[in-house]
Amino acid sequence: MDNASFYKEASKCVRCGACKALCPTYLTTSNESMGARGRVALLGGLGAKRFAPRGNLAEKIFSCMLCGACRDLCPRGIDITEVIYRGRAALRRSYRKGRFLRAALKHSVSRPDLAFYLLRAYRRLLYRPLHRAGMAGYNIPEVASRPFKNGIQVYKSIKRTGRVAVFAGCSVNYFYPDIGGALCSVLVSKGYEAVVFSGESCCGAPLRASGLQKEAAALARKNIEHFNRVRAEAVISLCPTCTMVIRRQYPLLAGDTISNLMDVNEFLVNSGIVSDLGIRPARMTYHDPCHLNFGLGVREEPRRILRGIKGVDFTEMRHAGECCGFAGFFSLHFREISERIGRKKIDNILDTSADVVVTSCPGCIMHLENLKAAVDGKFEVRHIIEVIDEAVHPVSPSPAAGEGDTTGNR
Ligand code: SF4
Ligand code: SF4
Repeated sequence: MDNASFYKEASKCVRCGACKALCPTYLTTSNESMGARGRVALLGGLGAKRFAPRGNLAEKIFSCMLCGACRDLCPRGIDITEVIYRGRAALRRSYRKGRFLRAALKHSVSRPDLAFYLLRAYRRLLYRPLHRAGMAGYNIPEVASRPFKNGIQVYKSIKRTGRVAVFAGCSVNYFYPDIGGALCSVLVSKGYEAVVFSGESCCGAPLRASGLQKEAAALARKNIEHFNRVRAEAVISLCPTCTMVIRRQYPLLAGDTISNLMDVNEFLVNSGIVSDLGIRPARMTYHDPCHLNFGLGVREEPRRILRGIKGVDFTEMRHAGECCGFAGFFSLHFREISERIGRKKIDNILDTSADVVVTSCPGCIMHLENLKAAVDGKFEVRHIIEVIDEAVHPVSPSPAAGEGDTTGNR
């Protein structure tokens, strides 16, 4: 499916409505044009020139959370999210709300360190006054003074069960470096040598979601070339959005992918690291990130891991697979809908009386922390690898100075 022919795919729609069953924007607004079927119909109409590429049409297409809940529901086999991605590429100039974001993204991918430095300055100097004036609702986390990726880092283990590389992703790299540290700590304690290579680029998800398809494809090619040269039995990702985009969208964007990329839950279960996970007593519940749940079908693995930790009193929350309302820039551009979706998630969390809400996505952590602050919630929000690290509790390893080969001979 190319950008020009997404409407052919949309024209296969028979309007059955099956795709609306789990669509969070439809279920929250009860508005047909804010649901999966409505969006497919609008894009079909755009292709047939029944509708013009105007701002209000673009708004409906950009209001999709790209959660993928509709993905496997269509009896006609329409890849609804792919139709929406292609529709966004065609409509991007009509979506005026996204102009600043597109410009910022285009510049930030070539100089991510500078972009996050500026974000850090905004967070420190401008967020509080803007928040008091009611002009900034979303509290982004502190940007780390030192990103997780800092040149090439090798975390060695005495046992050498295997050698793995880390795909950090921008959120872990700049907002949550401790999550990356926890992964390396767990891997080392289980006998793996973990390597963090410089040279990773943004996975391209924010660009593609903004309609910048060519730019996303360029990043895909860079990451494929870089990681397919890396000598490691697996490349482990801590962010389901990165994993989903690399596994499912890189073949469409760049004709190839990072063949041994794995979500951290998949890796831990497949490699048998689910027993003897130590002790971490707490009442826990689990929130399924959409791109892990709908995008990659990884649901059982995190639950198996949590049940393998001694002292965990696991309670399933109601509708654990429903979106938390984040969806990247959706939570800024469609704030009211995002908040309504988020309130449902918080109610379901509070019903469990859990002390710890575990998830596998740094974006969900960011959003759940914001939701928690709004209700003065007492629970902790943790990435699953942090919980495992706390249970295994090894001495945190430091990168071995001078280890690794920075010449590209890996
Ligand atoms: S991706 Fe999610 S929000 Fe978008 S149409 Fe599908 S179910 Fe609805
Ligand atoms: S499930 Fe498929 S055929 Fe049915 S309304 Fe949705 S896109 Fe159309």
